[in-house]
Amino acid sequence: MLKIYNTLTRQKEDFIPLKEGKVTMYSCGPTVYSYAHIGNLRTYIFMDIFRRVLKYDGYKLKGVMNITDVGHLLSDGDEGEDKMAKAAREQQKTPWEIAEFYTNYFFEDFKKLNIGKPEVIAKATDHIAEMIKDVQTLIDKGYAYEIDDGIYYDISKFPDYGKLSRLSLDDQQAGARVEVNSQKRHPADFAVWKKADPQHIMQWQSPWGMGYPGWHIECSTMSRKYLGNHFDIHTGGVDAIPVHHENEIAQNEALEGHKTVNYWVHSEFMLVDNGKMSKSLGNVYRIDQLEEKGYCALDYRYFCLNAHYRKKLNFTFEGMDGAKTSYARLLNTLYAHKVSNTATDPQVLAEYKKQFDEAVNDDLNIPLALGVVWTMVKAPKSKDIYALALEFDKVLGLSLDKAQPAEEEQTDIPEEISKLAEERFEAKKHKDFATADALRAKLTELGYSVLDSKEGYKVVPLNK
Ligand code: AMP
Ligand code: ZN
Repeated sequence: MLKIYNTLTRQKEDFIPLKEGKVTMYSCGPTVYSYAHIGNLRTYIFMDIFRRVLKYDGYKLKGVMNITDVGHLLSDGDEGEDKMAKAAREQQKTPWEIAEFYTNYFFEDFKKLNIGKPEVIAKATDHIAEMIKDVQTLIDKGYAYEIDDGIYYDISKFPDYGKLSRLSLDDQQAGARVEVNSQKRHPADFAVWKKADPQHIMQWQSPWGMGYPGWHIECSTMSRKYLGNHFDIHTGGVDAIPVHHENEIAQNEALEGHKTVNYWVHSEFMLVDNGKMSKSLGNVYRIDQLEEKGYCALDYRYFCLNAHYRKKLNFTFEGMDGAKTSYARLLNTLYAHKVSNTATDPQVLAEYKKQFDEAVNDDLNIPLALGVVWTMVKAPKSKDIYALALEFDKVLGLSLDKAQPAEEEQTDIPEEISKLAEERFEAKKHKDFATADALRAKLTELGYSVLDSKEGYKVVPLNK
């Protein structure tokens, strides 16, 4: 039974889906005005792990992730320029070009990091009509009101406001730099629709004139459109708890008249050198920048998997070096299992599986699960352990099938053996399979195995 920490109750709870065998999950996606940095990507690696554990547990999963391509303003309040419009102005492109470029880039990072794409990707600009409808409903139900610059949610109508963050309105005010708009009934009332100046690039016709949606209504509208008025899980980074998710709850419950999300699950932040990532400090890294420094994306994934998702993770290059070395060692060690012909007692295997399953189902304890993998690969070499590691890799997503020998092992092959392997390769090339097979048998007898690959072949010692 999967247990998951629910931010709403501040407790680890048994996960019980609304419909047996099926899970509905919404994940706040990126605002595509710039490249995703490694901090953002930590949040999506967490989303991916969660999705993988659910699938590993046999659930049929419908995941939705939004792409925010309008409405996310520079301040988390309702002031400042739209992030998309600012990037468009600075780069002399249209906001649509900006969105397309950074969305594609974002999904390239997904591929490199083995992050599976959710089943539905929903772009905010494709759902403006539905958002307008929801805003109208909020007005009709008395939860929203119109002022000169937009339509605002009246939080005094929602007594539960603050139930996710457990902050009083005063606390929320103290934390947020919300410039007070004198027409708002309460300083924490937030925009569900903003009226646009004529020079604003992204704007749509609405019953309140030309304008654009507030950032929070986007997620309320798209999650309910694809997952219905009650769904299982909502994920995001912890920074979304106090304003964005609180506002989503206020909107959803006003629109539907009841609770709409059962489990709110949030991942902690990535720090750099124990501090905030910030452009001015020059410590905001992207995956391609790590690649330029000699790491691969999966070294970064491995680095993230070593920390529980609810713990802050401190990024340092020493930490990355450690992750790179351990990940390479894991692949090398596994390789020895891959080429082994020995079996392992099924009971021993079952015990590893039990421990692994318990770890991943205990609030996604991946560091503990990785510990089980390490114990297992240090055991006597066996092809069964390799097979089980591949099963576990459905959760880990570390491309363990790419297990390969360490560099030094590859060069440590006697000349006589290399010669036989080369003869076998030539025979195979000329479709003389009988000779090729005979040479392979001879190599096996001498304690070596040949592995064919796209690039050619590799010779490796057996059972090392
Ligand atoms: P954004 O594109 O700014 O909307 O952010 C996308 C996601 O990245 C959000 O879910 C944030 O919670 C998350 N995020 C932003 N900064 C960090 C960080 N330093 N560490 C982890 N997640 C982050
Ligand atoms: Zn959201």
